[in-house]
Amino acid sequence: MKTAIFPGTFDPPTLGHLDIIERAANICDKLYIAISENNVKHVPLLSSEEKKYLLNQATRHIKNIEVVTFSGLIAEYAKALDVHFIVRGLRNCTDFEYESQMSSANNALTGVDTLFLVSSPAYSHLSATLIREIGRNGHRLHGFVPESIEETIFKSLSTKSP
Ligand code: ADP
Repeated sequence: MKTAIFPGTFDPPTLGHLDIIERAANICDKLYIAISENNVKHVPLLSSEEKKYLLNQATRHIKNIEVVTFSGLIAEYAKALDVHFIVRGLRNCTDFEYESQMSSANNALTGVDTLFLVSSPAYSHLSATLIREIGRNGHRLHGFVPESIEETIFKSLSTKSP
């Protein structure tokens, strides 16, 4: 049985994330979606509990998924769960430069490998940062985040924004 882990900040989950999740779930037997609880550079929009709820909502149609949270090094968490590989999405050359370095570091740390999925062209422009900016300026998020969680994310951005 092949298991994999897709780590990220998911603040908020986007259609780009969902695309990677759907494709990764198709090529392994079990996929963990791992919400990072490490500090982020921006003021977080959503709590881990909210992200977990939203990711579960958005992936209800996918059966071989479990949403978890972690803090610390993903390489160590992946080893503790005994997964076969980490999954990451690549949108562009900037992602590639950062991700290839992370992949080598993770491999050096615990021997875990990373599988990269290139973003579908329809989603390669999407980032959580961009979506927070769009929502904070009062614009709806259809076409940016999964339809089933659009309302909740839009409301969070309208009410919690600094
Ligand atoms: P990070 O993990 O760097 O904080 P995110 O949580 O937003 O960033 O992203 C988690 C993973 O999802 C990363 O591998 C990132 O490259 C990937 N990802 C984010 N947005 C997209 C997208 N639009 N298309 C494909 N992959 C994406």
